Amino acid sequence: MKKIYIVAGLDCANCAYRLERGLSKDSRVEKASVDFSTKRLYITYKDKEIPFKELSLLTSTIDSGFKLSELDTNKKASTKIFTKELWILLIRIIISSVLMALGILGQYVFNWEMYIYIPIYSVALLIVLYDITWKFIKNVIHLQNPFDENLLLTIAAIGSFLLVLFGHPSFFEGVLVIILSQIGEIFESVATNKSRNAIQKAVDLRADKANLINGDNINVVHPSELAIGDHILIKVGEIIPVDGVVVSGEGSIDTSSLTGEFIPVNAQEGYLALSGCILKTGSIIMEVKKDFASSTASKILELVSSSGERKAKAEKFISKFAKVYTPIIFSLAIIIAIVPLSLLIFNVNVDASTWSDWIYRALCFLVIGCPCAIVISVPLAYFSGIGLSSKHGVVIKGANYLDRLCSISTIISDKTGTLTEGSFVIKKEVIQDGISKELFHEYLIAAESLSNHPIAKAIIGQENVQSFALLEQNYEEISGKGTTTTYKNVALVAGNYDFMVENKINVLKSQENGTIVYLSANKKYYGYVVLDDMIRSSAKQMIDLLHKKGIKIIMLTGDNDKHAQSVASELNVDSYKSQLMPDEKTKFIEEFMAPTKSKKSVVFMGDGINDAPSIIRADVGIAMGGVGSDAAVDNADIVIMNDDPLKIIDAINIAHWTRNKALFNIIVALAIKLALMILSTFGLVEMWMAVLADTGLTCLLVVNSLLLLYKKVRR
Ligand code: ADP
Ligand code: MG
Repeated sequence: MKKIYIVAGLDCANCAYRLERGLSKDSRVEKASVDFSTKRLYITYKDKEIPFKELSLLTSTIDSGFKLSELDTNKKASTKIFTKELWILLIRIIISSVLMALGILGQYVFNWEMYIYIPIYSVALLIVLYDITWKFIKNVIHLQNPFDENLLLTIAAIGSFLLVLFGHPSFFEGVLVIILSQIGEIFESVATNKSRNAIQKAVDLRADKANLINGDNINVVHPSELAIGDHILIKVGEIIPVDGVVVSGEGSIDTSSLTGEFIPVNAQEGYLALSGCILKTGSIIMEVKKDFASSTASKILELVSSSGERKAKAEKFISKFAKVYTPIIFSLAIIIAIVPLSLLIFNVNVDASTWSDWIYRALCFLVIGCPCAIVISVPLAYFSGIGLSSKHGVVIKGANYLDRLCSISTIISDKTGTLTEGSFVIKKEVIQDGISKELFHEYLIAAESLSNHPIAKAIIGQENVQSFALLEQNYEEISGKGTTTTYKNVALVAGNYDFMVENKINVLKSQENGTIVYLSANKKYYGYVVLDDMIRSSAKQMIDLLHKKGIKIIMLTGDNDKHAQSVASELNVDSYKSQLMPDEKTKFIEEFMAPTKSKKSVVFMGDGINDAPSIIRADVGIAMGGVGSDAAVDNADIVIMNDDPLKIIDAINIAHWTRNKALFNIIVALAIKLALMILSTFGLVEMWMAVLADTGLTCLLVVNSLLLLYKKVRR
C-alpha cells in the first residue's frame, strides 16, 4: 500500500535522505522515498499504514523542522508562492540591512569606536544567519555529512568577521554575503514554487465545481459530491468534472488537455465525455458514469503524482555527486586559505594583509562552490518533462522511464488494439451445408456473449447479451484461443484453428486473410466467420519515424499467421511472431532481453486484456489508455491516453529534451562555477559576485528547467 504526503521544512537534499533513512528503519515501512523538488514523501507500507498522528510524530523526531501533511486528493495541490516563511525571512533581511547600514555609517562616517559598531554588525549577522547555522549544527547533531552550503555560508560569514584579526575589518561584507544569499533564497523559492505550480497545473486537469441538476434547481457542488447516475449541466468554457455520458444538448469538446490534439470533438447524445476536457461551444447535460476519484482526470493525476518516487539517473548522480563534491570544495578552500603558509616556507615575507587576502579568496571560493543550482534545477527538469508529456496525452509514471526512452533499441508491440483499432467487423461468413444461417448466428453469439474480447464485441453487435447468458452453463474463455459453453444443452466451441484441433473438432483450415473464428456445436463443425480489424492510421507513420531513429519494431500477436503476415508487411515492421499465447509473448520478451543484457531498453506496447505480464516485464511498458484494460494501465510505466501510437514518438522526443535540459543545467552550472572558482583563487572575485553567481545561477537554471514545460512538440 502506498501513500503520499507533503513535507514542509525540507531545507536541503541532505534532509531528504535523512527522512528517507529514518522512516525506512520503521518495521512497518517497506520503502520511503522523498522527492526534494516537489516536497513529497512516498511511503510504501508492508501491510498496515502508520496512523497519520504517529507518522507526524515520527518525522518530527527525525527532525523537529519537518512538518508532515496529508495529500488532500480532492483539493488542487498548489503551493503558495510567497509563503509565511518567506515573509519572515524578508523581514529579517530588512532589519539586518538597516543594522548593517547603521554599522557602516558608524564605522566609516562617524568613526565610532570598534566596541560600538562590532556589536551592531554582530546582531545584524545573527538575525540573517541563525537558521543557516542551525541547519549546519543539526547536520552535525544527526551525524550527517555537514559539508553542505550551510557550512560554507556559515564559515564564509564568520570568516569575514575574523579577518579583522588580520587587519582587514570587513564586517559588513560578512553580513552582506548572508543578506544577498538569503535574498537569493527568496528568489529561488519563488521560482521553484512557481515552476511547481505551473507543472502541477499541467498535470491536474480536475474541475473544482460541478452543476448538479436537482429537479428544477441547479446546485453548484464539489465534483467529489457527485454520485453515479446524477445529472449535471456543463456550460460553455467549463471543465467536465467527472466521466459521463451526454443525455441531452450538444456542443464541441476540446480534448487537448487529455490528448494534446487541438481539433474539437462534436458531442451529442450518447457521447462518452471524459473529465478534464473543456466544453468549447454549446451546453450539455450529462449523466455521471464514474465518481470523481475514479474519473480520468483524477486517475491521471494519481499516476503522475508518484512519478517523483522513481528518480532518473541524473538525479541519482547528483545526490551522490553532492556528497563528494562539497568536501572537495571545502578542502580546496582550506588549501587556498593556507597558501601564505607555503610562501613562508620559501622565506617570502608574509604580512597580515596577505593572510587576510588569501582567506578572503578562500571564502569566496566556498560561496561559489555551493551545489544548489544543480541540486534544485535538475529534478525540476524531469518534473517539467513529465508535465510536458502529460500535456500531450502521455502519462509517464517516473523520471527513470524518461531516461530509458532515450536509449531504446527495440519496441515490441502487440497487434490487436495497439497497432490496429481493436474494433473488428465481420467481413465474411462461411456456413457448412445443411446448417441454417439463423442457427449459426444464434450459436456464435451465444458462444461469445460473455466475452469482453474485441472479437466478441463485433460478433455480439447490438444483440441483448442477457437473453443468451441466461440459457448458458459452464462458460469458459481461454485467453488467446477462444470460448466454450453449454447453451440450451448444446456444447459450443468458438475460437481459432488450434483451439478447434485441441477440442478434437474436424475443421477445414480457411485460407482467408483476416482473423478467423470457427464454430462447432456438439463437436460438429458449423462454419467460420472472417473478421477484419482496421490498422490504426498512424501506426505506419509511427513505424517509419521509429526506423528513422534507428529503433526496431517487432509485432507479436495471437492471431493466425496469414493475417499477421499481411498486417506486418503493410506496416513494414522488422519482424513478427504469430499464434502466440499471452504467456508466450512474455516469454518472447524475456528471451529477447536476456542475451543482450545491453544498456539499451526494450519497450513493450500493448492494449491490455492479456498484455499486463508483458507490460510489467519490459524495461518500459506502454499501455493504450483508452481501449486498454485497467490491469494494463495500472501496470504500465507509460500510458497513451488517446491510443494514438504516434504519441510514443512525442514521448521519445520529450525524453531526449529532458535529458538534454538536465545535462545542460549540470554542465553550465559546473562550468560557470569552475571559471569563477579559478578567478576567485586569483583574487578576482568579490564576495557579492560570488553570492550572485550562486543564487543567480540557481534562479536561471530553475527557470530554464521550467521552459521545457512550454516547449512546442513537433514530430
Ligand atoms: P492479440 O495477440 O492479437 O491481441 P489475442 O491474444 O487476444 O490477440 O487473441 C489471439 C487469438 O485467439 C485471436 O486472434 C482469436 O483467433 C482467438 N481468440 C481469442 N479470444 C477469442 C474469443 N473470445 N473468441 C474467439 N476467438 C478468440
Ligand atoms: Mg491484444
